[in-house]
Amino acid sequence: MSAQTLPEGVPTDSAGHVDQDSLTRAQKALLALSDEVAQRLAEDNGVCVRPLAMRRIDMTTGRVDVVATPCKSTREDQCRPCAEKARRERMVQAREGWHLEVEPFDKPADPTEHQKRLGGIHRSLRISAGLPRRSPRRLRHRPQRWPG
Ligand SMILES: [Zn+2]
Repeated sequence: MSAQTLPEGVPTDSAGHVDQDSLTRAQKALLALSDEVAQRLAEDNGVCVRPLAMRRIDMTTGRVDVVATPCKSTREDQCRPCAEKARRERMVQAREGWHLEVEPFDKPADPTEHQKRLGGIHRSLRISAGLPRRSPRRLRHRPQRWPG
């Protein structure tokens, strides 16, 4: 925080840093971090702006700690530092040839006899319930896409 944005009367040293020990309670309340300031500080330092609190248990001592872990979002509108890290990591992976040349599942496997029998039962149940013979297209399996 620079000296220009400090409220009047806040003691600072020659470098413009706030002397935390000589602040009154009212001055400390004025300097409390707002969400915007905290987010800006996190972005400026390349730290996740919405970390997840995860519980870490030491199995030998049983001590439980709450640890902040990055959200690892790939979307810049959600977390700019994590999205930037993910983008750089993808660039490295692409440069090193981590991408696949061929799709791993180009054709679904042929159904087994058991699956065919279950499909027939399912179809007859749908007909007896007055539903169309096949499920609507949007409910069928679609390949996963990368988020972002
Ligand atoms: Zn994040």
